[in-house]
Amino acid sequence: MTRLSAITPSGHAHAGNHLGALRHWARDGGPEDLYFVSDLHAMTQSYSPPRLRALTRELLAVLVAEGIAPERLCVQSDLVRELGALTWLLECVCSYGEAARMTQFKAKGDAAARLGLLTYPVLMAADILLQGAAEVPVGDDQLQHVELARSLARRFNSTYGEVFTVPRAVTPPTAARVRDLSAPDRKMSKSTRDAAGTVFLLDPPDLIRRKVARAVTDSSDHSAGVAYLPDERPGAANLIEIYAACAGVAPKEVEFGSYGELKSAVAEALVEELRPVRERVQELLADPGELDRIRADGAQRARERGAHRLSSALRLAGVG
Ligand code: ATP
Ligand code: MG
Repeated sequence: MTRLSAITPSGHAHAGNHLGALRHWARDGGPEDLYFVSDLHAMTQSYSPPRLRALTRELLAVLVAEGIAPERLCVQSDLVRELGALTWLLECVCSYGEAARMTQFKAKGDAAARLGLLTYPVLMAADILLQGAAEVPVGDDQLQHVELARSLARRFNSTYGEVFTVPRAVTPPTAARVRDLSAPDRKMSKSTRDAAGTVFLLDPPDLIRRKVARAVTDSSDHSAGVAYLPDERPGAANLIEIYAACAGVAPKEVEFGSYGELKSAVAEALVEELRPVRERVQELLADPGELDRIRADGAQRARERGAHRLSSALRLAGVG
């Protein structure tokens, strides 16, 4: 059974991606699971082409460095021809109303929005259906898109003939949810402009220490000691959760005498947690040959995996 997960190169990967997703992908992934760097999804809003190319390469290196088996990896745009063809077939079984109902489009889409912002959930359906993925682990924000993929698979199968596995969304096991260190009301995110509260996977140790030292702890009364109070002190709770995720304990078990001690412990735990990934990424980026080979192998496997589904779908649709 294939499970498909993707990460968009909308910015540099951060500690939240690592603690909440990437390290679990590496540890818990099944032998048929697939992981995509979804660079085509990064094009729905204004972006810089050279930056996108560099971020895509970096993110592929991050996934390898995290320990995900290279044969499970693929860069989405390496399949752009197959995905372009399948997206068109799926757009022709998707209604405009269905696409326009997607809450992410409703939130960002106005008349000037790129048409790709409206249609990218159909491209996402093509990613899933081309690979025959049965399960797609997603958070709440992507649930609706997997439901769309499910509807389109069913509709294509019943209109033209059985070809696609009907995928279902699965909720990933609860993992750490890391918040921004300087604005704990929002989650740490790749696409945040202000990097002060974001610990990137490739930040050098001293920068990580400085960012953690400046983290908001929501308390001027430092004599009160360190308490785990997610609602009242989200900044401090975030630090406790980060420490707990690195140390492999529950947040309630974390005890420190002062916020200063907590911050030093969080900084050192993060530095050590991220060090092997950062060092391996640096090696991979310094030896382009290895990364190129991994990328080409992944693309070929993914293309071969999808080829019969795409040719059957084209034939059943009366084209190709
Ligand atoms: P963007 O700002 O472009 O949405 P992002 O940082 O939210 O980027 P995604 O590509 O949306 O990252 O998500 C990749 C994976 O990382 C998903 O599995 C998501 O649940 C997880 N993830 C993202 N941010 C966090 C976070 N702050 N804490 C824990 N997990 C996270
Ligand atoms: Mg996100």
